[in-house]
Amino acid sequence: MDFQSILDEINEEIRPHLGSGGKVASYIPALARVSPLQFGMALRTCDGQEAASGDSTVAFSIQSMSKVFSLTLAMQRSKGNELWERIGREPSGSPFNSLVQLESERGIPRNPFINAGAIAVADRLISQGDAKADLLVLLASLSGEAVAIDPEVAQSEADTGFRNTALANFMKGFGTLDNEVAEVVDAYFHQCAIRMNCVQVARAAGYLCRDGMHPYAGTPVITGKQARRVNALMLTCGTYDAAGEFAFGIGLPCKSGVGGGIVAVVPDTLSLCVWSPALDKTGNSHLGTRALELFVAKTGLSVF
Ligand code: GLN
Repeated sequence: MDFQSILDEINEEIRPHLGSGGKVASYIPALARVSPLQFGMALRTCDGQEAASGDSTVAFSIQSMSKVFSLTLAMQRSKGNELWERIGREPSGSPFNSLVQLESERGIPRNPFINAGAIAVADRLISQGDAKADLLVLLASLSGEAVAIDPEVAQSEADTGFRNTALANFMKGFGTLDNEVAEVVDAYFHQCAIRMNCVQVARAAGYLCRDGMHPYAGTPVITGKQARRVNALMLTCGTYDAAGEFAFGIGLPCKSGVGGGIVAVVPDTLSLCVWSPALDKTGNSHLGTRALELFVAKTGLSVF
């Protein structure tokens, strides 16, 4: 398939709509001032073919897309079922920062991709090593380039992170977290503040379309069974309470972030990333979602 022409066509179809529909995340200044007039898309196939179009090398805040990679690290390091004794695997049907469910479900987050779940994963990473540094090392290895944390975004996440700290306190009260709340949310805020571009994210997710094998090194990042589980969680829980709509309309495992990025996987075929900063009501990139719909329509790719 001529992926470069397909991405160029999608870029041409999307660009006239930039600035119409959706709103850039506004909870911190560093995200609020990002221009919504940007769109990028990149992919890498399992056999190493790359294609990219639009603003595919402009770095953006990966935000909740980081949850895929932090979960991967925690899966690598956890024995048996220990991770899943603290974190569920059900879609939440609630906004990503909802407190209500956590109260009624006694401090066990529904899944690793809502904020509470990712905070519980960050707690595991602290117990298992150096959470912040280990994630950067993994991402640099997977994308083949150094990646960094934006210190201004990390600080603003901390300054405004009252709900996330509340979620962490709740879980600490129920015994879900082993480490101090301040240390756990610090790791979470820093992972949200990592900056990458579409090309880097598409490369980094390559292990998810290769049964867990590293996209360059050819060694396992996680096992094939674990990679299938990450993909299953992305499909059912990766786009907040729009996951049903995504499965219905796009049919690929996806994980979005409020920076406007969405990473998607076509198992055994390719990994891709789209980015456009304006978000719809569910917190997913408005035009990124549209671009993924165009991509599956033009390629016929789907997990179903
Ligand atoms: N930093 C954001 C938060 O924790 C990330 C949320 C997201 O991308 N869904 O609220």
